[in-house]
Parts: sequence; C-alpha cells; structure tokens
Amino acid sequence: MKEIKLYTRGIGQEFGLGCFVCGIKQKLMNNISVFVPSKEEGEEVEKWFKGSYLDFRPREPNWIQLKIGACDKHKDYLTKLNTLIASKINISKEDVDNVCKVEEKE
Ligand SMILES: [Zn+2]
Repeated sequence: MKEIKLYTRGIGQEFGLGCFVCGIKQKLMNNISVFVPSKEEGEEVEKWFKGSYLDFRPREPNWIQLKIGACDKHKDYLTKLNTLIASKINISKEDVDNVCKVEEKE
C-alpha cells in the first residue's frame, strides 16, 4: 500500500471542516494541520479523510497543508491520528483506516 510522508503541526481548531471519523460538521472543529510533500500527494491524502481539505496556495507551492477535522465526540481519534503521524511519518490509507476502525467496535 502506498505511503505518503506527512508532518503534523499538532492539534488546533479550525472552521469549515467535517469530522474525519463520522463526517459531521460543527462550526468550530478540532483539527490537525498536516504538511504534505506535493499537491498531487496532498490530493491523494485528502481522499483518505472525510471532511478534510487541501490548503494549496499557488504562491506558496512548497507550503501545502491538509486540514483534518474531528467533532468533539471524536477528538480522541484525532489525538490518536496525530500521535500516529508524529511517530510514523510515512502514512498509508490502511493506517488511517485502523485509527477510524476503533469506532466500529464501540
Ligand atoms: Zn465525529
């Protein structure tokens, strides 16, 4: 499975995102901003996360961030995801699915 190199800037809050676990939208979401190596890879990773969006600015092509959100109920998943990205660096869709999978067992 393809892996993409991601770098997390840590957990914050952001408007206009959906929850990557359940898809719900709140006004203000818990979020992590993740640096991606290129626009192409960013667009691929964007598909892995519900409700995410790629913050690509043509004037800053080397400064591409993917914004990933989580609702209050799923903030723990965001923390897990952040820890995963911080520890593993190269992330695959399978890794993301494993983080979300915990939900199904509840
Ligand atoms: Zn949620």
